[in-house]
Amino acid sequence: MDDKLFRAAMGKFTTGVTIITTEVDGGVRGMTANAFMSVSMDPKLILISVGHKAKMKEQIEASGQFAVNVLSNDQKEMSMIFAGQKTDKQDVEFNYFEGLPVIDNSLVSIACDVHNSHDEGDHTLFIGKVKNIEIQDGDPLAFHEGSYKQLQEA
Ligand code: FAD
Ligand code: NAD
Repeated sequence: MDDKLFRAAMGKFTTGVTIITTEVDGGVRGMTANAFMSVSMDPKLILISVGHKAKMKEQIEASGQFAVNVLSNDQKEMSMIFAGQKTDKQDVEFNYFEGLPVIDNSLVSIACDVHNSHDEGDHTLFIGKVKNIEIQDGDPLAFHEGSYKQLQEA
């Protein structure tokens, strides 16, 4: 099957946008991701899917932990920075939560330990065991058909 058809189909499924963050030997890294879901209530587990070519894969494997930062609709620039969509290098300041770097002003930051991982095709599914959650009010950034969108009341 054609890659374009697959992407066009998956792009019809509207998602939020997250930045996955972790730290290895004092080096903080982030990666924009929309492949995120809730998995289990008891125990509290979430899932992210990271491409094998993404540097984030080795970084999560090395640190054994990561945070998922759910972006608000005024954080499109952050999403672009951590998707490599900005040409110039950007300085980003991180806060710390449960010993993990997190993105300031996110709607939610979820601190996780790696509970399990599964290689599937050209991605690795990391199951995160939730250690703690920070949450704040605001509207989400959305991603639909390869473009950033804002939610509107139906
Ligand atoms: P890099 O390419 O090295 O890092 C990504 C970018 O973040 C670089 O520009 C880098 O300079 C910057 N950066 C990293 N750390 C810092 C720091 N400390 N300070 C400042 N800048 C920093 N890919 C997936 O595998 N899974 C997904 O679910 C997924 N969803 C996506 C959703 C959207 C909406 C978009 C736009 C992209 C998505 N991608 C996803 C693609 C992914 O974001 C990119 O391929 C990304 O470049 C991979 O990052 P990397 O780990 O290889 O690291
Ligand atoms: P796009 O049109 O490529 O993405 C539409 C949808 O297709 C995404 O929401 C995702 O569900 C799926 N998708 C895209 N690339 C994929 C991949 N390599 N593996 C699995 N699913 C994928 O959107 P765009 O704005 O052109 O994306 C910018 C860049 O980010 C592209 O290089 C794209 O490949 C990458 N991206 C990767 C993933 C992922 O790995 N899960 C998700 C979104 C975007």
